[in-house]
Amino acid sequence: MEFTQALLQWYDEHRRTLPWRGARDAYAILVSEIMLQQTRAAAVIPYYGRFMAALPTVEALAACPEERLLKLWEGLGYYSRARNLKRCAQAVVAQYGGRFPQTPEKLRELPGIGPYTAGAIASIAFGQPAPAVDGNVLRVMARLQEDGADVTSQRTRDRWTAYLEPRMGERPGDLNQAFMDLGSLVCLPKAPLCDSCPLRPFCGANAHGTQAEYPNRGEKKAKRQELLTVFAVQSGDSFLIRRRPEKGLLSGLYELPNRPGHLTQEEIGAALTELGARPIGPWQILTREHIFTHVIWRMQVVRLTAERQEVPGYAWYTGAEPLPEAFLKCLR
Ligand code: SF4
Repeated sequence: MEFTQALLQWYDEHRRTLPWRGARDAYAILVSEIMLQQTRAAAVIPYYGRFMAALPTVEALAACPEERLLKLWEGLGYYSRARNLKRCAQAVVAQYGGRFPQTPEKLRELPGIGPYTAGAIASIAFGQPAPAVDGNVLRVMARLQEDGADVTSQRTRDRWTAYLEPRMGERPGDLNQAFMDLGSLVCLPKAPLCDSCPLRPFCGANAHGTQAEYPNRGEKKAKRQELLTVFAVQSGDSFLIRRRPEKGLLSGLYELPNRPGHLTQEEIGAALTELGARPIGPWQILTREHIFTHVIWRMQVVRLTAERQEVPGYAWYTGAEPLPEAFLKCLR
């Protein structure tokens, strides 16, 4: 028996029940796959439901105003994903009349669709023999074959794609999803559950006890750290916010007032005066941390109540403005 057959048999019994499972609609698959990039399935589920209810078709997404789109994405992070998703929807509507192309090559020409997403859509929606090589596939294959190549390199991805393509068989969409489920449920990054793995008879790492050595993730660069003082200025159930610049990290989203560095008590007082906020009572200081792809924000959060008044350059949060998770956590 080929390892792909064993994997499919396991999938038929153990597949996860997920709201996007069973969908053959390329749009629904696109939305779920983009949301699942860098986000766990459990966290994606409520977002996916809300998003599909608000924007059920590729045409609805193509016509959605940016601020509403970012609000639907609020808390999911990596907001460029939402913008790319909309650009992709616009291209599908403009170039293909709202019907997705079916081959991975054509799908990859659309904005924001890389080899993995193209493979997932082509295989799941259209039954094409296209591998969808993500971190799960790379981890499983590296362990199966005790392959020490750096999985962060494109060459390694291309090599596994070429290896899997002729092995996709009759059920390519299911095979790709089986890899995803095996990677999420059994062949875990830190402590793989080899005793319950259907691929155990095929696995070199299991035979030699070398699971911890694979995959090779190359040299990890340390993330840059930034210190920030964030002001959570509250009046009633609202907070002072402003729109971030159009370029750079979290562009176009909203933010709480903030200053670089961890300010001293005097500097906090001076910053509040400069801001034009009139505190009522003492302020409280908390610490929060937020990890982005290349940077970690270490935040000193100054929480205070203030008189509700106009503050030049700022507005009071109404609930409709998209606030990124880094700032939402300062309000909790
Ligand atoms: S036997 Fe263990 S290491 Fe090998 S694929 Fe299965 S879970 Fe991963």
